[in-house]
Amino acid sequence: MIDFTSARRRLINMLKDEGIIKSDRVERAMLNVPREEFLPNYLKLYAYEDTPLEIMYGQTISAPHMVAMMCELLGLKPGLRVLEVGTGTGYHAAVCAEAMERRGVVYTIEYYPGLALYATQNLARLGYLDIVHVFTGDGSRGLPKYAPFDRILVTAAAPRVPPQLFNQLSSDGVMVIPIEERFTQVLYVVTKEDDVPHMRPVTYVSFVKMRYSEE
Ligand code: SAH
Repeated sequence: MIDFTSARRRLINMLKDEGIIKSDRVERAMLNVPREEFLPNYLKLYAYEDTPLEIMYGQTISAPHMVAMMCELLGLKPGLRVLEVGTGTGYHAAVCAEAMERRGVVYTIEYYPGLALYATQNLARLGYLDIVHVFTGDGSRGLPKYAPFDRILVTAAAPRVPPQLFNQLSSDGVMVIPIEERFTQVLYVVTKEDDVPHMRPVTYVSFVKMRYSEE
């Protein structure tokens, strides 16, 4: 039997030493969500390696350091309305819910219905479905019906900030998004200044590509 609790604690201590986990809020959220529960059996062994893992449909669950870093950049707190584009396994959505102390709402949208179902099952088993709502569809268009959002978390790389997502960000909102550049991808923090995007680059990253449409 693997001692997941000790492995989780060790990984989180490492992420703190590396300066990736900065706040008690994100530390607590990462401690509260069992990553192994979001993985198929054959991958559970690697749940607390700091690496992305390939799941179904050639998609990946992000590495723990990337989940922690994006949560820090989002500045989550109780009561926010969050949109995640790219549900994958549901893990990151659960960490966001915990970082909001399970108060607020996370809308998350996944392109592949099979993954949306997998994520829904994972989130249901752990009791997150009252705060995390899973949708299937093209997240580059956002979820206009539920906009505006205080925070938008994008977990697949887009060629540019999808205009519809930017429109659905509240005026004092924050979006964290990987953008494809010529030979690489860069993680950006996007805010609104008089309705114009202000883009702050953070670091080089490697995400799966977003299925992207602007029409
Ligand atoms: N956040 C996830 C990991 C996401 S990997 C987790 O915690 O497990 C990126 C995900 O984005 C993949 O599941 C992929 O299918 C999805 N995706 C790609 N393009 C998309 C789009 N246009 N709309 C919604 N989801 C998309």
